[in-house]
Amino acid sequence: MVEKTPLERYMPPRTPSLVGLNRAALGDALRAVGVPERMVKMRVRQLWHWLYVRGTRDFDEMTSVSKDLRTLLARHCTLVRPEVVAEQISQDGTRKWLLRLPGEHVGERPHEVECVYIPETDRGTLCVSSQVGCTLTCSFCHTGTQRLVRNLTPGEIVGQVMVARDRLGDWPHARAAGQGPGTDGGRLVTNVVMMGMGEPLYNFEAVRDALLVVADGDGLGISKRRITLSTSGVVPEISRCGAEIGVMLAVSLHAVRDDLRDVLVPLNRKYPIRALLEACRNYPGLSNARRITFEYVMLKDVNDSPEDAKALVRLLRGIPAKINLIPFNPWPGTRYECSDWDQIEKFSEIVFNAGYASPVRTPRGRDILAACGQLKSASEKLGARERLALRAMAATD
Ligand code: SAH
Ligand code: SF4
Repeated sequence: MVEKTPLERYMPPRTPSLVGLNRAALGDALRAVGVPERMVKMRVRQLWHWLYVRGTRDFDEMTSVSKDLRTLLARHCTLVRPEVVAEQISQDGTRKWLLRLPGEHVGERPHEVECVYIPETDRGTLCVSSQVGCTLTCSFCHTGTQRLVRNLTPGEIVGQVMVARDRLGDWPHARAAGQGPGTDGGRLVTNVVMMGMGEPLYNFEAVRDALLVVADGDGLGISKRRITLSTSGVVPEISRCGAEIGVMLAVSLHAVRDDLRDVLVPLNRKYPIRALLEACRNYPGLSNARRITFEYVMLKDVNDSPEDAKALVRLLRGIPAKINLIPFNPWPGTRYECSDWDQIEKFSEIVFNAGYASPVRTPRGRDILAACGQLKSASEKLGARERLALRAMAATD
């Protein structure tokens, strides 16, 4: 099976949230509540500021907006973000939020996604989800085993950034009040990676609209250079990603031969390695300063030989690239194991000697199941036994 069928079970809430809307959509929302056309542009500017610079959660705080309009807005709209149903903080400072999303039928299990914050000394990276589950079925990925799939709305994607800022006290006024040291001008969330649950290029329009809001310099202001979208290789959407979103690209390569990649990333049967690399070569805006990151998960005795490393280097010749080696994060029931450390080092050395910086991504937040490929909604919760097995695995690797 290459793909599962998405279940579009989203039902918009009766009172829509303004969170995540771009300027055009905010304008429409204002017109819908009766704001006259000549006022729309100015009101959009005000709302934009309160929403994305201030992170306001209450219409009453919008002091530059007339009282009448605030009342009107409060009657017809909300400023609601995805609801945080659980927060876990790892021993290494990584935080994972379980978010519950609206729109489920009565009696249906709630839709949930996870969002992970990874603090480092020089940056703070937020790992954002694009779908509930994933239609793809990569054999080493926990998310790929989840049945339920639906696309997130732009509001739910931008909402993850807003939730992180809320929970971390990462809005300018909160930072001014001294709630926590920042990294970039005091900021805590400095980078965004679309590497949570889901295949972002299978939810292209919503991801595009959301990332353009996140990158807007007059609002959330996370520059496109600090936003990375990771794809398993949806070839027809790659050039659109460069042209219409313009963020940094990461590609989940994981294998250098089609027969193996067909197994690890079944989408390869539709878009094989040659076609994928051709799309990468043509990625708009590619240069030595704007390289594509190739992700390569280290699977013991599967794709981790020195020959694989040499073939990888040959394959990427001519593409401005970075190579990111990811130690496999185990999950209960998986048939894979993480490569031994000295095997990873050997691999990394070959890649390094070929002229690539080859950072090995340190697994973060393993104790709270927040590491790459471990995300899976609690709506498909692990049983206690599985959790114990997992904790044991995490403790021993
Ligand atoms: N769907 C997109 C983005 C989300 S996954 C994609 O596949 O690129 C983010 C990264 O984590 C991808 O490179 C993915 O291949 C990797 N990953 C998935 N499961 C993993 C696991 N169990 N251990 C380590 N990395 C994993
Ligand atoms: Fe989906 Fe990415 Fe996991 Fe593959 S690795 S199943 S594309 S989330």
